[in-house]
Amino acid sequence: MEINQKQKIVILGSTGSIGQQTLNVCRRLNFEIAGLSCFNNIEILLKQIEEFMPEKVAVANLDSAIELTERLKKMPHIKTEILYGDQGNVELAKSACDKIVIAIIGFAALKPLLAAIEAKHTIALANKETLVSTGKIVLEQAKKHDAKIYPVDSETSAIWQCLAGKTEASEEIKQVWLTASGGPFRTYSKEQFYSITVEDALKHPVWSMGQKITIDSASMMNKGLELIEISRLFNLTGNQIKVIIHPQSIIHSMVEYLDGSVLAQMSLPNMELPIQYALTYDKRLPMPDKPKLDLAELGQLTFEAPDMERFPALRLAYEAQAEDGAMPAVLNAANEIAVRAFIKRIISFLDISAMVESTMQKFRHHSLYHSSTLNDILAADQWAREYTEQIIAQFR
Ligand code: NAD
Ligand code: MG
Repeated sequence: MEINQKQKIVILGSTGSIGQQTLNVCRRLNFEIAGLSCFNNIEILLKQIEEFMPEKVAVANLDSAIELTERLKKMPHIKTEILYGDQGNVELAKSACDKIVIAIIGFAALKPLLAAIEAKHTIALANKETLVSTGKIVLEQAKKHDAKIYPVDSETSAIWQCLAGKTEASEEIKQVWLTASGGPFRTYSKEQFYSITVEDALKHPVWSMGQKITIDSASMMNKGLELIEISRLFNLTGNQIKVIIHPQSIIHSMVEYLDGSVLAQMSLPNMELPIQYALTYDKRLPMPDKPKLDLAELGQLTFEAPDMERFPALRLAYEAQAEDGAMPAVLNAANEIAVRAFIKRIISFLDISAMVESTMQKFRHHSLYHSSTLNDILAADQWAREYTEQIIAQFR
């Protein structure tokens, strides 16, 4: 489809950080919104409905869906249909559109994602947990149903752009350089890690994002999840993915080819760029409202090697990537539970990685360790959540 035609977009998770930035892109490009969804944030959803008048919305939390229904009854000019519960997001994922953006956080995005694949949609995928846990299955299904998946994360998009849109890495690639800002604790000593608070971890130096991914960036688990995501999307081994700290976050990642040539994708940090690229691929459109990179003003770009001792999450992710099977799902599930407990101030910052490590260690003796079917991965995910909860219960 030509992008100067009005595209119809569905956004799952429209009230979140990526969801709202996607709506900025849609405003800029004058795209039509066919559907929106959220878990329970109906205040924001209601404003979005009034502005974009989508045909349908889905609200996963039942009480919130009921409240939204009541409030919309008082606004008879709005004809938006409301879909309820988890199934509502799945239904919405199947509805007619030119592109669907999946910006739901966590593993809850899996069923809607698979539904969008079965509907043969072109998918702009921001959610990384589904690719980490069930990436092989998701990509196999996408191939089978001829659904396209375009990456939205800034690093995956950078690699995709350096590969000029190829989604499977070619044999000419030696390795990729996955850049990381290093997060708020990049320069902390080992001792300083003991006293990190939730507020400290929620202050990201570069990016403004949802809570969970901000904590993941502080622990560098975000980079760990991305390295698994990238290995899946571009069919690379762990050895071919090198993490490099780049505090200015101007280079969003690089591809090194066999002849030693390294291509980098650069821009000022701005998530709307990868979102817009995924929505308009393979065309580029202006973003007149966004400041542009001025290298002379910036002066320098710096780089340093990551420290896996202070940031064990990165080591754990490399291990999970190498072990494969259900291990990436276990890493992701344990991390989701541990991050939630940290935000609730039940465990400390250092406990997050310690719990992920204990859960992974225990899983190595589990009968599902070598499994890779969808049902087994879902069972391993469930097991990991329960096991991590059990360890956390000892802290209450
Ligand atoms: P967020 O917490 O700000 O928003 C999450 C959205 O998902 C909200 O709209 C919420 O209502 C919805 N949601 C949560 N649980 C749901 C459920 N069970 N059913 C339906 N909807 C549900 O998160 P975010 O920062 O926008 O991140 C979204 C995804 O994008 C994550 O997987 C994250 O890793 C990835 N991502 C985010 C960024 C970023 O800059 N924020 C960058 C790259 C990748
Ligand atoms: Mg990223």
